[in-house]
Amino acid sequence: MEDGIREELGDKLYRIIQTGIAGENLVRYAAVVNELKHFNGRCGLGAVMGSKNLKAIACRGRVRMKPADPELSSQVLTWFRNSYDKKRDPMHQYGTTRGIPSLNAEGILPTRNFLQGHMEHADDISGQTMAKEILKKPGTCFACAVACKREVEVEELGVEPRYGGPEYETMAAQGSLLGIHDLKQIAKANQLVGQYVLDSISTGMAIAFAMECYEHGLLTKEDTGGLELTWGNIEATQQLIGMIARREGLGDLLAEGTMRASEKIGEKSRPFALHVKGQELPMHEPRGKKSLALAYAISPTGADHVEAPHDPFFTAFHAETTMMPELGITESSQPKELDPRKTKHFYKTQRVWSLYNTIGMCNFAAAPINAISLTKTVEFVRAMTGWDVSLYELIQAGERADTMSRIFNVREGFTPADDTLPARLFEPMEGPLDGERVDPQAFEQALADYYLLAGWDAKTGMPTKAKIMEMDLEWAVPSAAG
Ligand code: SF4
Repeated sequence: MEDGIREELGDKLYRIIQTGIAGENLVRYAAVVNELKHFNGRCGLGAVMGSKNLKAIACRGRVRMKPADPELSSQVLTWFRNSYDKKRDPMHQYGTTRGIPSLNAEGILPTRNFLQGHMEHADDISGQTMAKEILKKPGTCFACAVACKREVEVEELGVEPRYGGPEYETMAAQGSLLGIHDLKQIAKANQLVGQYVLDSISTGMAIAFAMECYEHGLLTKEDTGGLELTWGNIEATQQLIGMIARREGLGDLLAEGTMRASEKIGEKSRPFALHVKGQELPMHEPRGKKSLALAYAISPTGADHVEAPHDPFFTAFHAETTMMPELGITESSQPKELDPRKTKHFYKTQRVWSLYNTIGMCNFAAAPINAISLTKTVEFVRAMTGWDVSLYELIQAGERADTMSRIFNVREGFTPADDTLPARLFEPMEGPLDGERVDPQAFEQALADYYLLAGWDAKTGMPTKAKIMEMDLEWAVPSAAG
């Protein structure tokens, strides 16, 4: 469709954002994509476009962007050029799938619907193997030096580089989560979800849910239209992707997401529907990275892996960027801890990632994952906007965004009871993290501490009047203004 729009407009420089067949059919986790490979997944924005009969938006810029302070901008860019060494950055070298071997060794690679955290042959689906076997070239968002994306080609399966390549979430959601370790076939599945414009995480989770239901006899061959929904069945998985997008047969049920599909199948299927607030779990294991227990439970959009940096960044894992002294984070915490120190690390860095979302900074380029420190982020904002802005003001902007999201959710009927996790995460794991689980008491305490830090009322979940006043958000809650 992109080619057709450009041809009609007669200008190759148009950029196009669109939804696809999944969005047209109001699949609840239909996504939005620009340039065929840059995805805006999660939360079903494609279904929102579909509900408005909006298929695509094409636009073309004609004015060159100029920084408000060219001198400062040039200083900051020179600093970045001198400080960022792409040869030493594994994110640049191997992309987001670089960490699969270590996640697998640590037992936190979601496998077979989070039943395990370790898969045999996981190295087959790493970024390092991808580089050897199917990589055409690294991919990138516009003008990004990190260039963490991948473009792959598998001629015999019709996989083309213009659809990009599997990133970590897809590699796990269409791979280990379903018991699949065939790299080329995962690249094919990545292209399929891309062509239908589906969220690859929720698609994988819906299929994994169906596989576990099938294993327990809650779905039969009659329900699946003859598909053998067994772990590792590549053909069945790829057929199901199309059935979900077109809402055919079992695909129609799974297109509703695991929460609603489970309500229809019945109570016995509930343990297999892994979601928070209706959003399926992403490909990170809270039993081995405990801050994710808070992130998944508290995020306004349901289970979300980009709410704050993950726990390994608060160990000595990335020595150069791990600590964030500007926030007072000067000591490490361990991934399996869920204590007040971890809650503080999560709370403070959540504001920073909310700030990155607010200013359009990619968290793969900035602290604590990458080279751009908080102090430099302030300089970037000053250079581009010309505002005499401080780190304090920017962090407050992040917190204001988080507070507004919470006010919105409470207004829409969410309560503290929704800040929870699927029961499976409270159960002990098998494999390298044998016996590890999210301890329910530690989790409740961490939630209570988080509410105190964030200024949320324990009974209603609403930000307190004091917090609303501090954030200048009285306009969002008229009753708090008095
Ligand atoms: S680091 Fe961020 S901005 Fe750069 S290519 Fe990767 S996702 Fe895009």
